[in-house]
Amino acid sequence: MQNLPEIPETPKILELRKRFSEAKKKDLREGKNDNFFAFLDTVQVECSRKVAEICSVQPPTPQLRLCLDAEFQEFQKLFGGMKDSLAFIDHRTHTVYFNFERQAQFSTSGFVSNLAVSFIEELLHSAFPQKEEVEIVVKAFDVIEDYLGIKLDDAYKKQSLARARESQ
Ligand SMILES: [Zn+2]
Repeated sequence: MQNLPEIPETPKILELRKRFSEAKKKDLREGKNDNFFAFLDTVQVECSRKVAEICSVQPPTPQLRLCLDAEFQEFQKLFGGMKDSLAFIDHRTHTVYFNFERQAQFSTSGFVSNLAVSFIEELLHSAFPQKEEVEIVVKAFDVIEDYLGIKLDDAYKKQSLARARESQ
């Protein structure tokens, strides 16, 4: 899936930003990362509920593995993750690898929105392990739009589908 090109300030995105900022503030005060990880978990649970609601399937919850860029690229090579993506799932161990270093370079709105995009796509892979990339991407569009309250434009959809086709 492509990164979102523009991030509109929808109520959901603003809410995610607020939750993210509060988690970071708390972590700074407490000198740990627990609140941030709790934030990641709640976003994943919400995305999972959306997938269940829209696709009538209960995705199993994958393990999350946050990686630095170099580490992520190693895993990509090892497990055949799609090139240029920020996340992929290894179905054998049921682990989602996240390129956290690159993900963290977005603005706050970009970060929370693209986080949801990655979660939704990987949860769909997890729910439909037999389906091809293109089918997953098409399903992901609907869930992303509904969860974030945005309308994806046709250029973005076309690009994402073209990339999905290339990877098949
Ligand atoms: Zn995919």
